[in-house]
Amino acid sequence: MPIKYPMAVISAPRKVDFQEKTLPVLGDEEVLIKVRAAAICGSDLHLYKGLHPSVALPVTVGHEAAGEVIEVGKAVTRHQVGDRVTIEPVIACGKCEYCVRGNYHLCVNISFQYREGQGAFAPYFIVHQDHAFRLPENISYEEGALIEPLSVAMHAVKKSGIRLGHSSAVFGAGAIGMLVSMLSKQASGVGSFICDIHPYRLKKALEMGAQMAINSREEDPVKVILESTGDLGVDKSFEAVGLDTTLIQSLQVLKRGGNATLLGIFEKTDINFPVNIFVQREVSLYGSQGYSWDFQDSLKMLRNGSIDLKPLITHKVSLQNLQQGFDILLSPKNESIKVIIQMED
Ligand SMILES: [Zn+2]
Ligand SMILES: [Zn+2]
Repeated sequence: MPIKYPMAVISAPRKVDFQEKTLPVLGDEEVLIKVRAAAICGSDLHLYKGLHPSVALPVTVGHEAAGEVIEVGKAVTRHQVGDRVTIEPVIACGKCEYCVRGNYHLCVNISFQYREGQGAFAPYFIVHQDHAFRLPENISYEEGALIEPLSVAMHAVKKSGIRLGHSSAVFGAGAIGMLVSMLSKQASGVGSFICDIHPYRLKKALEMGAQMAINSREEDPVKVILESTGDLGVDKSFEAVGLDTTLIQSLQVLKRGGNATLLGIFEKTDINFPVNIFVQREVSLYGSQGYSWDFQDSLKMLRNGSIDLKPLITHKVSLQNLQQGFDILLSPKNESIKVIIQMED
């Protein structure tokens, strides 16, 4: 008898439904994973609102997950039944110029499992063996579900070229901003300035090692950062919000010759921009897309305990209450960072 199971779908703006799926026959190089924990991503919130710039509704949802391997295809060599793994949910073609050069995050045919009908808010997930990574023993499934966002932050921090002694500013203290702030500190030895409008998140960012938290609703972050750096500004900045205001601020806080790295997804894309800043101050703006060989490095940091993801988990809900999880993250009070979906047996 084929196994039937529910998979979450965003069927209309702010509406979660469940589709009945049937487990397909496992491919030779695929592994079947029993999902144990999944997490809601900032990009899932754009989907939930029906405002994701490159995805239309209805769509299956969820791409941050960890679980147990319960079946392996005939030709699988990297995994065994019982392995605890996290999932890299990207799909690259392996054939284009970028893939062949190893830059699969730039694949011209890039997609993600959830966009192809396989969301992680479901009890089962199937991936090619190369897209499952074994979890270190000290890492729980819940933390394992956060390796995807950690890898997004890792990619951006590497891209920025931050080095020992560099100062940094992070716009947005959601999960990604928080992780960028933690990793920047690891790379530079210097805590970052972090800017947001939610007091809860700012407090949390300080607990996680940020040097100064700035409430952009109460103070002008550009002014505060310039004042705190003797009018110099910072070497590196990161935009993890997706708004024109924070994008412009991320450039205005830079030292001459500094660079800003953009990770936020913009719902509104026609932006008024002070373009002369690039030439006059010789600043640069980088984009950072997903991850490419970053899961491996995230796992190294987790294995030796140099980063702790547990404090980012603020809420847990069951799969049936997924919609509640989205609403927690979108509530105006916003006392949440990461909502974990716990799967029962
Ligand atoms: Zn994500
Ligand atoms: Zn490709």
